[in-house]
Amino acid sequence: MADRWRPVWADIDLDALRHNASLVSRVAGPAALCAVVKADGYGHGGLPAARAALDGGASWLAVALVEEGVTLREAGIDAPILLLSEPPVEAMAETVARWLVPTVYTRGGLEALDRVAGAAASGPIDVHLKVDTGMHRVGADAADVLCLTEVITGSHALRLGAVWTHLAVADGADATDQEFTQVQLDRFDAALATLAAAGHVPPVTHVANSAGTIAWPAARRDMVRCGITLYGVAPTRALADAFTARTGGERLRPVLSLRTRITFVRDLASGERLSYGRRRPLPERSTVATAPIGYADGVPRRLFDVGGEVLVGGVRRPLAGVVTMDQIVVDCGPVGSAPVQVGDEVVLLGRQGSEEVTATEWADLLGTINYEVLCGIGPRVPRLIHGGDAHPPR
Ligand SMILES: *Cc1c(COP(=O)(O)O)cnc(C)c1O
Repeated sequence: MADRWRPVWADIDLDALRHNASLVSRVAGPAALCAVVKADGYGHGGLPAARAALDGGASWLAVALVEEGVTLREAGIDAPILLLSEPPVEAMAETVARWLVPTVYTRGGLEALDRVAGAAASGPIDVHLKVDTGMHRVGADAADVLCLTEVITGSHALRLGAVWTHLAVADGADATDQEFTQVQLDRFDAALATLAAAGHVPPVTHVANSAGTIAWPAARRDMVRCGITLYGVAPTRALADAFTARTGGERLRPVLSLRTRITFVRDLASGERLSYGRRRPLPERSTVATAPIGYADGVPRRLFDVGGEVLVGGVRRPLAGVVTMDQIVVDCGPVGSAPVQVGDEVVLLGRQGSEEVTATEWADLLGTINYEVLCGIGPRVPRLIHGGDAHPPR
């Protein structure tokens, strides 16, 4: 129990993370692994995730925000850290001072970086030029790639470290998605050919996220940028199977489990209705248990409506009513069917006995993706770090 008084915690298994990183490295090889640890390591803790991924064979890290990179540097991480979007102009000085590797795709961004890097006079800094090949989130238009590259190669302060792009539907199983991924790869290669014709050959190219790494060997290039697989969760069920096929049977291991304990328990008559909205009557006289975790911790309120289950005593049990801000109620079955006591562990995500609830199960029920489930586990939940060299929790 990590909280002083509230029995709610997330176990973070760094041995699992290291295992996943080494499996992903094997699948991606000879491409290098860049471990994506943005958003506090997808909710697992950015620093422990970074350390375990590096232990497991990652040679790069990637984050979304300059702030996230600074936090890793302040903790003593000295691996190269890629910023996945172009830093704001006001953050260029910090980017250079912290030796973060900026992604760039605008002339204004490049010029700001050039000024700062020139003034810092610390030798040329590598930039990773991002090309938009169809995701249409951020990235340079193909038509501007040569011109931006020449701004870089024309500067004494900058160096072209890589050219990269990002896939929009690498996890898609249908023909339309597969065709689009091929279109993106073709556009990327066309951009590289344009650069090569003008004498610019980037030392590194990178394209694949987790889905691309698993499903698109042609996307692996020199480096892959993987996040979700490192946390032990494949982007989709189909990709989980494809991944296992590529490792010869070795599976990803979920890194995070979300646990609490029963704080209140009683028997209620058939027909009683629990929680806000009094949504569903008990089908018979039942034992119901309350546990102190709720939507403020990242357990979606809708989990009740879609049939969410938790594990108590190694058995799947349905929620008995709507998830509230700080508490859930669990239907533990007909009175006398199973011993249930205050203090018993309740698993929301993870294993108990031979049963397991996964982030993918929640995602499928809720109509979202496992990424959102993991990132949604809130800061009120203490993370208990296990394994690795057991760096203490936050
Ligand atoms: C988040 C992100 C990744 C990692 O994606 P996963 O599907 O978690 O492997 C890779 N590249 C970019 C640009 C990203 O934003």
